[in-house]
Amino acid sequence: MKEAPKLSNDCFSMPQGVDWTPVDDALKMLQDRLKTIVKTETIPVELSDGRILAGPVKARRSNPPFTNSAVDGYAFKGALSDGQHCFSLAEGRSAAGTSFLGTVQATEALRILTGAALPEGTDTVVLEEDVLVDGYSLYINGPLRQNSNVRQEGEDTFEGLKLFAKGHQIQPQDIGRLISAGVSQVTVYCPLRVAIISTGSELCEPDTVAQNEQIFDANRPMLQAILKRWGMDVVDIGIVTDDAALVREALNDAASQADVVITSAGASAGDEDHVSASLTAAGNMSLWRIAVKPGRPLALGMWNGVPVFGLPGNPVAAFVCTLIFVRPSLMQLAGAGFVVPKSLTLPASFSKTKKAGRREYLRARRQGETIEIFASEGSGRISGLSWAEGLVELPDEALEIITGNLVKYFPYSSFGL
Ligand code: AMP
Ligand code: MG
Repeated sequence: MKEAPKLSNDCFSMPQGVDWTPVDDALKMLQDRLKTIVKTETIPVELSDGRILAGPVKARRSNPPFTNSAVDGYAFKGALSDGQHCFSLAEGRSAAGTSFLGTVQATEALRILTGAALPEGTDTVVLEEDVLVDGYSLYINGPLRQNSNVRQEGEDTFEGLKLFAKGHQIQPQDIGRLISAGVSQVTVYCPLRVAIISTGSELCEPDTVAQNEQIFDANRPMLQAILKRWGMDVVDIGIVTDDAALVREALNDAASQADVVITSAGASAGDEDHVSASLTAAGNMSLWRIAVKPGRPLALGMWNGVPVFGLPGNPVAAFVCTLIFVRPSLMQLAGAGFVVPKSLTLPASFSKTKKAGRREYLRARRQGETIEIFASEGSGRISGLSWAEGLVELPDEALEIITGNLVKYFPYSSFGL
């Protein structure tokens, strides 16, 4: 394994006097400052689903590796002109895995099955449904183009072709493609190990009896599930109460085990915001006031050389910030580059007036060919995350949307969910 590079301690620093940072500027800064921090390893292709390629991969074998028949039928030398043609049936056949080793004469046709190599002397196959076989003769009605029903050697992929670029995240269908091109091992980045800490004295575990003022820790399990979808390894640090010493201890623990730390809550500048306080005390934190709704400041910093993403505690804000800011950042750290989600532009089935100054993400879903939004924009309304199937992005500027106006919609799948 190769040693992975480290990030510098000032990689999240914000220029002095910056107040509200537009989303695009924040994303640009993250993209410029983050780089791949994981090592590489070589693994069997069968085990590579979701892994990120550490270098380009080339085909080691052509696909198809030899010219073969696309159908069950008869092989001969084409083409055929309009009208009826007759061939004498050659003895034997060519089947997948047991091809015909002889040569077929110009006056002959040979029985051939799908996937079988085309024998010497043939270049064209006729479908068995399109012929008449009578004893030792085969009758075909032309015309038939030369090379009909034949898959040429290398027509899909030729040996040496670049199959995937460095940074590509392998999908199930890619495993099929790699293996058919003779690739059995791939060099990939080790999964990014992400430690998750929930902070807040009000939090309790889902399997406990919640006291009156307690709430269940919804963020940690939700974030864990998201990270797993992205192919990352999760290190669960648990819940930490609002206590500076305990938060520091948890950060030490997390940073010693993981490549990245994600915390939720305690990220603002309040009395009990110990994540930002601890990172600030360590001298390596910036409160990024990003002009985005939902979302309060993101606390970004370095702890013992490990990047920390301090998310807002509110589950809706934590979810949206994770998709918009944390995903491209983590993917960049993991070797996949700063991924940009793909949006659809569809007419709104709602109307809304939006003030200038910050970008907004609304919980949304498709309704036929239009986009509807969740009835409440309240950031405590976690039910809206499940109601929705994606997010609508409204631009930073002021906007008056009326029914039928086009809006930018990101299905959850565009965030790898
Ligand atoms: P904070 O960022 O600490 O000010 O928290 C903002 C809101 O989110 C508060 O109402 C918290 O109780 C709530 N909250 C914080 N952490 C979680 C969590 N892990 N699960 C659910 N709600 C949370
Ligand atoms: Mg709190």
